[in-house]
Amino acid sequence: MIVRVLGSAAGGGVPQWNCACANCTAARAGDAPHRSSSSFAISATGERFWLVNVSPDIAQQIEAYAPLQPRMERGTPIAGMLLTDANVDHLGGLAVLRQAGDHAFTIYSTPTVRTLATAQEAFATFALPPHRWNSIVPGERFVLDGALAVDVIPIAGLTPGYAGRIPRGDAVVGFAMTDLASGERVLFAPVFMDVTPALVDAASTADAAFFDGSFWSDDELSDVGVAKAARSLGHAPVGGSEGSLAKLRDLPPGARRFYAHLNNTNPLLDERSDAARELRAAAFAIAYDGLELRFGASLRAPEPSVSL
Ligand SMILES: [Zn+2]
Ligand SMILES: [Zn+2]
Repeated sequence: MIVRVLGSAAGGGVPQWNCACANCTAARAGDAPHRSSSSFAISATGERFWLVNVSPDIAQQIEAYAPLQPRMERGTPIAGMLLTDANVDHLGGLAVLRQAGDHAFTIYSTPTVRTLATAQEAFATFALPPHRWNSIVPGERFVLDGALAVDVIPIAGLTPGYAGRIPRGDAVVGFAMTDLASGERVLFAPVFMDVTPALVDAASTADAAFFDGSFWSDDELSDVGVAKAARSLGHAPVGGSEGSLAKLRDLPPGARRFYAHLNNTNPLLDERSDAARELRAAAFAIAYDGLELRFGASLRAPEPSVSL
């Protein structure tokens, strides 16, 4: 199994076009890496790929990763997408992929995510690419390409801002993918409002895991004049006694654990910050665009280089 981080930032990326915070300024100056909006590519063999979320940055993400590029006149190795939720930065890329021609993507999401996504005027205007949309429910398992078992992990979450940010049981899910050949397991939980026992269970059996790293503190957006708390946006902050790191730091040792989906205001993006030091001390790392993990005997590669 190959896991590639296509984008490691929350919506807006780093730098965000209308933001001059310290992190965005550092990225513009070349002092910190650019980060596109959160998305992952997964493949059992390196031939067919599945995306976990498809961000509006998908076109540039494909150009940055040759295995996702076409191998014939028109075509794509991208078989489809698994959506964790209906936030625009997690499915807006569907509109970017609308020139798919005869290629029908297979999309997996909960019924709530499907209803929210397909009711949006943006998609009515731009049109979705050809697709088959499969409904999945938390707790269920399905198999991709006969090789990757996907467990749908229930997640505490809210509907997106355009749908009122309402708590709903299937507004957000995580995905735990098991390589059926090697037994190795990777958890994707880029969005969650709280660390629930179900999330801890899924994390404790994963060989690698990606967690919601949107915000370090609940009131971090006030630094850029936005009066919204992290939790009210559906994201548990990473830091603090009630933060996700405090609840995840006692997981069994030995797995690779990353925070992904970082908002540009997050002090974790500055490796000299106290927050980044605390994260490293807990043996967590920050995902970055281009991070690749390879699992399975035939695919095993040296330890990936990890920033921070
Ligand atoms: Zn997002
Ligand atoms: Zn910024």
